[in-house]
Amino acid sequence: METTSFTYKTGPCSDVLIIGGGLAGMYSALAAAESGAAVRILCKSKTGGSGNSVVAMSVHRFAPDAPGLREDYRRRFLASGAGQQDAEIAAFFVDHAAAAMERLRGLGLPLEYRTLSENGGEYPYLACCSPKQGRILTKAVREKLNEYPNITVEDGVTVCDILTENGRAQGVLALCGGEMRVYPAKTLILCCGGAGNVYAATSNTHDVTGDGYAMAARCGLPLRGMEFVQFYPYRIYSPKRADIFPDLFDHGAVLRNEKGERFMDCAKYPMKELENRDVVARAEFAEKEVRLDLSGCDKAYLERECPNIARMARDNPDKPLLIRPVAHFFMGGVPLRTDCSTDVAGLYACGEVTGGLHGANRLAGSALTETVVFGAIAGKNAAEYAAADADTPETAAAAGRVLSTYPELGTDPLRDLRDDLRETMQKDASVIRTKEGMEQALGEIDKIKAALCERRPASLAKWNELRNMLLTAEGVTRAALERKESLGAHCRAD
Ligand SMILES: Cc1cc2nc3c(=O)[nH]c(=O)nc-3n(C[C@H](O)[C@H](O)[C@H](O)COP(=O)(O)OP(=O)(O)OC[C@H]3O[C@@H](n4cnc5c(N)ncnc54)[C@H](O)[C@@H]3O)c2cc1C
Repeated sequence: METTSFTYKTGPCSDVLIIGGGLAGMYSALAAAESGAAVRILCKSKTGGSGNSVVAMSVHRFAPDAPGLREDYRRRFLASGAGQQDAEIAAFFVDHAAAAMERLRGLGLPLEYRTLSENGGEYPYLACCSPKQGRILTKAVREKLNEYPNITVEDGVTVCDILTENGRAQGVLALCGGEMRVYPAKTLILCCGGAGNVYAATSNTHDVTGDGYAMAARCGLPLRGMEFVQFYPYRIYSPKRADIFPDLFDHGAVLRNEKGERFMDCAKYPMKELENRDVVARAEFAEKEVRLDLSGCDKAYLERECPNIARMARDNPDKPLLIRPVAHFFMGGVPLRTDCSTDVAGLYACGEVTGGLHGANRLAGSALTETVVFGAIAGKNAAEYAAADADTPETAAAAGRVLSTYPELGTDPLRDLRDDLRETMQKDASVIRTKEGMEQALGEIDKIKAALCERRPASLAKWNELRNMLLTAEGVTRAALERKESLGAHCRAD
């Protein structure tokens, strides 16, 4: 690749610089600010209005310290991870979830305790007051940030690379509009979410493109468990897009194939549509078409809890509500530690960008709890690290090294390469995987990488996003090829 010399401006130095404006980012900002640090959030989109935290269905699962309940949660959490979790971290998480939920509620946010009917049991969780929409919570947390004069929020800033020197984080290189900026910082918290958009069909918001995995990998961090991608089986994609809360199937909704058969109603699936997500996703994957049938559904429940779906059905009486499994959650990522540190000194990580907590599959409702439990820890520890550190961050040499790898600009929108990558991953590395398919996918990824080196991108932001998606897709596919047995959300057909 031809090299070029970009110029950049240098922004102010932060004690704690947070990459990502989802729930993990905002919650870690609150904790760092409470510890007295000068905090800056850089968000590619809009802090509190972007990322999967906004579209989440607002289930924050936890277990109170009551006889049997916590043990049951621990057992179910570990069973879901199929032995691939870091046991110490899983136990830590289960033990800290209830207190973290109580602290979250103590912020005076619009949350209430509820119970979830699942597999014949009733389980506690914290949720936004009706309707269950993550954006109600993220908006409230975003408003909380305004109460702290030591938090600065910069939206529309894409972090492209983490700058390191001698194994220590020094700051980041970011794009703001067409302008390059270096932001020096004493500590960084990486929390830019997962990577659903490496697949053509996803429930994720458009800004979730694997940037965190790729940035971590580029600064030498290993990633763990990247083959474990959860596919959500309850996504309506036509006539409009919407996610269904699985509770709906407890209130009379059913899935049917194009012949009208309720294909989950057989001895193989005792829990019917409420089988584990990966089981339902695989059953759907085998059908030509899957429809949501609301004819037997409790109408009052539907109107109250899923007003968007009730409206969609009302507005389109002649159109079937079509469903397909979509890339939903990445269990893998930057190895999570209980103190949220990483192998790069001064770099912390929390939220979906981390891996190891959920193992091979995630128990529903535990990702939002994770952002809160570990967001608080990352923020506090990063602030303490910054307070104890007298060194001034040194960014110039690292910025020069990184910029020498950036391409000449031209006019190419790169859209075809992005589409090719997403379709390839969907076809060959999604719900059901084979050696042959994944080898084809890797071949295609190599071709797209080679093409990206030849092209002159119209926008550095698009180029950066695509290189991140490629690195993430390659990581997922290589890990999936390596793992020959089916486990959790990873299913091998060969
Ligand atoms: C439809 C849906 C429903 C869900 N429902 C639930 C649920 O009910 N319960 C549950 O536990 N989990 C749920 N999840 C999962 C959960 O929402 C996510 O795992 C969680 O919100 C991740 O939070 P996060 O802060 O780590 O990342 P996100 O909320 O995804 O935020 C990532 C942030 O990083 C920013 N960003 C990305 N790249 C960059 C960059 N290069 N530079 C700067 N900023 C960047 C993004 O703009 C965004 O602000 C759901 C997920 C989806 C998709």
